[in-house]
Amino acid sequence: MKGSFRTRGLVLRTTDFSETSQVVKVFARGHGIVDLMAKGSRRPAKNSSSFHAPFDPGSWYDINFRKKNGDLHLATEARLVEGFRHLRNELPIWLDATLALDLLRTLFTPGDPHDDLLRETLQYFKLLSSGVGRRRLRNRYLHSILVASGLQPSWELCAGCDSPLSEVPARDLVFQLPAGFFCSDCVDVSGRISVDHALLNYLRADSTQEWGKVPSWQVPDAVVLRGWEVLSSLISHHLERPPRSLRYLRV
Ligand SMILES: [Zn+2]
Repeated sequence: MKGSFRTRGLVLRTTDFSETSQVVKVFARGHGIVDLMAKGSRRPAKNSSSFHAPFDPGSWYDINFRKKNGDLHLATEARLVEGFRHLRNELPIWLDATLALDLLRTLFTPGDPHDDLLRETLQYFKLLSSGVGRRRLRNRYLHSILVASGLQPSWELCAGCDSPLSEVPARDLVFQLPAGFFCSDCVDVSGRISVDHALLNYLRADSTQEWGKVPSWQVPDAVVLRGWEVLSSLISHHLERPPRSLRYLRV
């Protein structure tokens, strides 16, 4: 599909190209991932400039671009809508934001729009700014990623025999990659992680929790941390190479 497009997009990565230009990877509304050449974006801006400043990762822009043959398209104009400056003020918060950008970049392919996930990412970044409930917010975001990428396990039924997990006695409740939760009759001993109903109930509720309620949600830290282990292991399992940012994250 050739032509000129006007959209909004979140910048996932920027690469300097020559003295004055950048190549920008954007998660764009209606388009999914697009790679754009922004000629002159690093030049000092004048009123007439197409770009008022170099593109920043983790920022949200109005973007006009022209599709070219091949994978690299041409950004013709852009304006910053929201810079999410607060994300950069604290390292743990910035690392969480970086993980989100990395996951979007790694799990999704060009021409595969995920507008709901894009909207949730913006909401996540806004809520991260308050500095409250950072770990709970991160878990909630991993649910959104799992849903959008079709990797979400069932929080209700055993992945082997479909029996309701709520009826499986705690000692028989097992989590195993990649499928998710099982009763102990359905899996081998190898590679299983024991889970309990407190964790399962948290994950089940979290998978559809309203974003605005996440920061003040009363969940014991230990449960949130185990939730992170389960959710991040599900996502890492499906990535050939886990995102670099995962290495730097301190739970
Ligand atoms: Zn079973």
